[in-house]
Amino acid sequence: MAGKLYLCATPIGNLGDVSARCLEVFNAVSLIAAEDTRRTLQLLNHFEISKPLTSYHEHNKKEKGGYIISLLKDGKDVALVSDAGTPAISDPGEDLVKLCIENDIEVTSIPGAVAGINALILSGLNTRRFAFEGFLSVNKRHRREHLESVKNDPHTLIFYEAPHKLKNTISDMQKIFGGDRKIALARELTKVHEEVIRLTLDEAAAYYEINNPRGEYVIVVDGAKETENEAENQWENVSVKEHVDRFIAEGMTQKDAIKKAAEARGVPKREVYNEYHKED
Ligand code: SAM
Repeated sequence: MAGKLYLCATPIGNLGDVSARCLEVFNAVSLIAAEDTRRTLQLLNHFEISKPLTSYHEHNKKEKGGYIISLLKDGKDVALVSDAGTPAISDPGEDLVKLCIENDIEVTSIPGAVAGINALILSGLNTRRFAFEGFLSVNKRHRREHLESVKNDPHTLIFYEAPHKLKNTISDMQKIFGGDRKIALARELTKVHEEVIRLTLDEAAAYYEINNPRGEYVIVVDGAKETENEAENQWENVSVKEHVDRFIAEGMTQKDAIKKAAEARGVPKREVYNEYHKED
């Protein structure tokens, strides 16, 4: 029988966040494939676990992927660990999962921290609907194209960023999204120097003129607000139910959402209420 791949989430800073199940899996598998073997070794040493480790990262994922699949086919269980947080989120784990599926190998997950989700819930921005955008390209043109492509997205946007690129990214966001757009910058989550600052893009640009970015960052950006005109045209093709649900997703109560939808459509509240509560 083939082995199983365990996607093991590890702490994003605080070792106390490792789950009991994750440690059980580490003890049980034949091999741990780690994006950063040195970092994973520290974790294993801390919990006095001794297990064969192999590297699996962006630059060796082709060869190592084949090797890991051969072990799994041989009946060995393997744990996959990202440098921090949940494997397959902004790391090559996604390729190994696809490879396992192509090879009929079972994959399961041991849940834990995801930096982007922790930043989102601390941001104070809308959490009901969001889009994970991962890393922006280091290439200036691609970075700007990426930002342009999400400029009008109403979802809260989540980006990962390295400290040395943060100022340029903030400056591009300020130009493309506009200086009034709200953002939250979450850094060093779960660590001693954890900090979340909530500003507009104009304020953030001024802040980083004076302060140097330090540590690992997640940038959470408020979704685009519709202009009156756009909203008017947009509702023509949106059902009443969808219209009300969108306002609820932005954080409104059902009552307020019905009132706002009625105003936007230029119809009485009762009409929207009846349509919204109509049986499908
Ligand atoms: N797989 C990880 C996850 O589940 O979030 C993310 C890996 S990605 C290669 C690394 C990026 O995650 C960092 O550049 C940073 O943007 C973000 N990150 C990781 N740990 C963080 C922390 N403690 N505080 C803030 N951001 C963090």
